[in-house]
Amino acid sequence: MAKPKRRLTTFGKVLITMIVILFLVLCVLISQLVIQLTKPQEENQAEQAKVVQEEVEEPKKEESKHSAREEAYAQAHPELSEEEVIKRVAMNLDQEPYSHLEEVQDLDSDLQLVNKYYALPAGYEPADLVPVSSSGENGTVMMRQNAAAAFEELVQASAQQGFILNACSAYRSYAYQEGLYNNGVANYGQKYADAYWTRPGSSEHQTGLSVDVRMDNDFSDLDAVRNHPQYDWLLEHLADYGFILRYPDDKQEYTLIAPESWHLRYVGQEAAREIADHNWCLEEYLYYQN
Ligand SMILES: [Zn+2]
Repeated sequence: MAKPKRRLTTFGKVLITMIVILFLVLCVLISQLVIQLTKPQEENQAEQAKVVQEEVEEPKKEESKHSAREEAYAQAHPELSEEEVIKRVAMNLDQEPYSHLEEVQDLDSDLQLVNKYYALPAGYEPADLVPVSSSGENGTVMMRQNAAAAFEELVQASAQQGFILNACSAYRSYAYQEGLYNNGVANYGQKYADAYWTRPGSSEHQTGLSVDVRMDNDFSDLDAVRNHPQYDWLLEHLADYGFILRYPDDKQEYTLIAPESWHLRYVGQEAAREIADHNWCLEEYLYYQN
């Protein structure tokens, strides 16, 4: 009777051991299954996060194109403030003059910007050119109607002030400007020509909004106006008639044109007043407007 009892006990032990082993194996299997099930989910989440990150980062890459120009300009000009770097890059001054010419779009605007980065179309001629008071040395000179009317008012005011103001040059066609520039290149070389003439399309005279003036018919030199006793009066009252001195002595770094004491530009009274009040040039006015 004792024998089967002992066998049963041994069988029971084996059974219990096997159940325990089976349980442990099951535990391992279940835990592996859990790991298998959760792993792809985590990976998937990581993948999704990556996509979201890339979506966020992509527009940044486009922005960084602009800031790369700013960074390069800042490195080349450590003397400039951050604000000044941003301003100059916005004016395209980090690019070689004439290397990135864009065509002027707002041809009917009194505020159109024509310089070594923005050029007028080759065949462009304003439709509303009219003659203005001229010194006669270049025959009859023309300006756009609104600019001409404002200029005639300035001429009248100057007469009341006791001096003669008139135009020696105003509208110049693309072809005329081309002739001037090409002649300069032929006689003196491109570097010299670029210093003294603007390339065709980049001359403000093609807008019909600009005028080179004489005072009291002093033909000695265009810069002679600077020495006229009423020149300060003229500068102080330009804005009342919608004009600015387009290339002032202290703005060559923005205009890239040497000072021209004789070159007036019509921009309308509102802009002219604001430009005068802030001592801006046209490039600065347009920068601060945007
Ligand atoms: Zn001029």
